[in-house]
Amino acid sequence: MANRIDPKCKQCRRAGEKLFLKGERCFSPKCAVAKRPYAPGAKGSGKNTRRGGLSEFGRQLMQKQKVKKIYGVFEKQLKKYFKEAQAQKGDARENLIRKFEMRLDNVMFRLGWAKSRAAARQLVNHGHVAINGKRVSIPSYQVRKGESISLTEKTMKSKLTENLLASLKKYEAPTWLAQEQNKLEAKVLAAPTADELGDVSSIGLIVEYYSR
Ligand code: SF4
Repeated sequence: MANRIDPKCKQCRRAGEKLFLKGERCFSPKCAVAKRPYAPGAKGSGKNTRRGGLSEFGRQLMQKQKVKKIYGVFEKQLKKYFKEAQAQKGDARENLIRKFEMRLDNVMFRLGWAKSRAAARQLVNHGHVAINGKRVSIPSYQVRKGESISLTEKTMKSKLTENLLASLKKYEAPTWLAQEQNKLEAKVLAAPTADELGDVSSIGLIVEYYSR
């Protein structure tokens, strides 16, 4: 994507943790964070020296950058999500992470239909995905309760589908998404609940960053 000249693994090493940007490799011993758990340039020190004395602002900034990389969003979009999350009722942190989770590219990834969010984005961009039977090619599309997600008819007949169905046998999608067995069809049962979103404390740093 534009403005992202660093190799993906370098971005993880700089963040000091796995951001899961490369699909299967991220779960293998080949993962760069597993092999070299220190920041680029801090060779062999055994720790990410850049993070040692970070100020509160530095921590907020770092968390914001990390989430942008994980979900593949740009600054303008993140700011927009924050404003919408704050305007909604309830916990702004939960509202914000829900925005990311309900993006169509993320939903594809969560369903296991793509190995990474980047791959999911490509599938959507290339017109392989349909919502309620109609093609949608906008990765940031926010899915809604009751909507059904599938691959387009043409894509369903392709080789890609066979391989995907085989890999899905061992995969478990989140509980807010209902995956049809042996089919590349799923339904959004509801927006993810607070429990399903998990710990949102790190997202709080982003809310603090934009609330300054
Ligand atoms: Fe990050 Fe995945 Fe590369 Fe590991 S393999 S460093 S998790 S992108």
